[in-house]
Amino acid sequence: MRTNALVGYSFLFAVSALVPGAVFAGLYGDTPNATHAWSVHDGNRPKPSRVTVDEKGVPSDAIVLFDGTKESFEKNWCDGKGNPAKWIVNDDGTFSCGTGFKFGECRTREEFGDCQLHIEYKHPADITTIGGNAQMRGNSGVFLMGPKYGYEVQVLESYYTCKELDGTPEFIQNYADGQAGAVYAENPPLVNPQRKPGEWQVYDIVFHQPVWKGSKLIHPGSITVFFNGVLVQDHWEMEGQTTHCRRRPLAPPPTKGPLSLQDHGCPVSFRNIWLRPLASRWDNLTHSDMSADPEKVMAERRATAAKLYAKIADPKAATADNVKALAEVISYADEGVYAADFRNALEAYRAKPGDANEIKSVNNVLDVLIRNKVIPEAAKIANPK
Ligand code: MG
Repeated sequence: MRTNALVGYSFLFAVSALVPGAVFAGLYGDTPNATHAWSVHDGNRPKPSRVTVDEKGVPSDAIVLFDGTKESFEKNWCDGKGNPAKWIVNDDGTFSCGTGFKFGECRTREEFGDCQLHIEYKHPADITTIGGNAQMRGNSGVFLMGPKYGYEVQVLESYYTCKELDGTPEFIQNYADGQAGAVYAENPPLVNPQRKPGEWQVYDIVFHQPVWKGSKLIHPGSITVFFNGVLVQDHWEMEGQTTHCRRRPLAPPPTKGPLSLQDHGCPVSFRNIWLRPLASRWDNLTHSDMSADPEKVMAERRATAAKLYAKIADPKAATADNVKALAEVISYADEGVYAADFRNALEAYRAKPGDANEIKSVNNVLDVLIRNKVIPEAAKIANPK
């Protein structure tokens, strides 16, 4: 693809972009727009920060919510009212809910919005102790943004679910949108990769909450779940907040909530829980898509324009370099002194242009603005005769 792109559009690239080891600066990709703060191949766009992963697989920028110790549990987890959680911390680096609905909710003290979450759980190996049939069979749940306004990724013993399929004891088969890996009451998992009871199960979840502007829904949000490494929720766009039996439409909730584990009266153990907060689609200006807030995008564009303009020694000079530098400035914000200086410099340069190679380099930049409708086709500079 790269080869084809170079053949088809090589006239758009500055010479320095094609020289190995050279650093290209300037405008040559499609310009910023209402929901993109950066141009294509933008050299000013922030670079990703470095993250390392330790021997346990925990990224260096993760918040470790449970590391196996009692101290970690007490520091990070509480009940639904902020009091110490009643769940049991075990000697083997796990914590557990038991039977009888006596334990209550176990939630994080800190609240989160969009995030990447890693969490592991296990049911007792003896399936007769798991707690019954159907939704009483090892039920718990991972509530993103809490049980009141949030979204539940179901925890259940779903390995043995159907006599017809596996010939196991005749448990009552669970409904598909309530089995392990389901976005509860909405979407069943794509497949069932659950291991046998007694083995650890792993959820890796990417959660983006819905985006609202006042009462207008901009994006429904999404849940992606890898279950024991297998994709079971493929960027599922939520239809509502989790409830039972009914469809509860999405509504503007708080933008943060606790990570909450459900007490459904069944024995389930958890371990190795970490979370990486992610920027909301609405606020993410570096990785923005069409859900980004246009006002924030424009503010970012103006900030970049101001930064680039400040680097130009003499914005009034009619040089090729100035025309190209000011073209980059107006690609972010075609307004005010930037617009005036660009057009003045361009007209002055047009009256006294350089040689053919220099004109070509200026026109390459002007072409980007023309194809993005920042300036008209007539702005191009004619080659010398
Ligand atoms: Mg549940």
